[in-house]
Amino acid sequence: MRPDLTRLAIPAAMACAVAAIVIGERRFPLRSRTQPGPQRIVTNLVLGAMSMAVVAAVEGPLVRHLADQASNRRRGLAQAAPLPAWARDGLAVLGMDYTIYLWHILTHKVPALWRLHLIHHMDLDLDASTALRFHAVDMLVSVPYRAAQVALLGVSARALRVWQGFFFLSVLFHHSNLRLPGQLDRRLSWLLTTPRMHGIHHSTRAEETGSNWSSGLSLWDRLHHTFRIGVPQRRIHIGVPAFRDPAETHVWPSLRRPFRPQRDAWAPAGRAYDDHVTQGCVDRIAGTV
Ligand SMILES: [Zn+2]
Repeated sequence: MRPDLTRLAIPAAMACAVAAIVIGERRFPLRSRTQPGPQRIVTNLVLGAMSMAVVAAVEGPLVRHLADQASNRRRGLAQAAPLPAWARDGLAVLGMDYTIYLWHILTHKVPALWRLHLIHHMDLDLDASTALRFHAVDMLVSVPYRAAQVALLGVSARALRVWQGFFFLSVLFHHSNLRLPGQLDRRLSWLLTTPRMHGIHHSTRAEETGSNWSSGLSLWDRLHHTFRIGVPQRRIHIGVPAFRDPAETHVWPSLRRPFRPQRDAWAPAGRAYDDHVTQGCVDRIAGTV
C-alpha cells in the first residue's frame, strides 16, 4: 500500500504557512489597527478555542465517517463520475469550496444564522485571529450542512483532508492583515480570496459586505458577479455599524449576543458610531493611523 503523503505534507505545509502569515501581517500591515492592545487577540483566541472544540468533538468524527463511506462504497456525486480517483477528489474539493460559498451567503441572509455569524463580523479589526473568531454554536449549526456536503458530494477521506487543509489556510490568509504588493494581490485574486478582497467583505458598509463571499477560490464570486475589488483599504472601517463598542466584542458579551434581543446590525449605533467613523477619517487624513 502506497503511503498517503497528504497525511504528512499537509500538516507540515500548514505549520510553515501559518508562521509566514502571522509574521507577515505584523511586518507588513495592510490596514491600521483600531484595537492595538492584546485584549482583542486574546478574545479571538478564546472564542476560537471553543469553536475548535466543537469541530473536534462533533463535526470531525461525523464527516470522517461519511468520507470513509464515500471512499469505501463509492457513494456521492464525485464518486459516481467515471474518472480516476485523483480527478474525483479534485471534483469533490471544488464542490466543497463552492457549497461553502453558498453557505456563507446563507449565514448573512438567514436571520437565525446571521445572529451567530455576526459574532465573527463584530471584530473591529481584521487579522489572522479573526479567522478563529466564531461562536461555538455557529460551528454546531453548520454540522448538518457540512455532513450533507460530504455525503452528497461524495468527498473521500483523502479529498476531505485536502479540502480541510486548503480551507484552513485560505481562511487564515484572507482574514490576515498581510499587505501584499497591490499588483500581486490583484493577480492572485483571479485564483484565490485575498486579504484585500476579504477586507471589503468585512466593511461596515452593507453594500460592500454583500460581496466577496468566497472562502477559497475566487471563481465563485466572479461567476456570480459578487466579486469586488478596488475599494481603498484605508477607507474601509472593519466591523458592523451597530456594534462599535469594543466592550461588546469581548468573550462573554459575544457568547451571549445571539441569545439577546437583536438590533439592526447595519443601522449606525448613534453618536458613538458617528464619532468613531469621523475620528477615524480625521486620523487617516492626518496620517496618524
Ligand atoms: Zn461573512
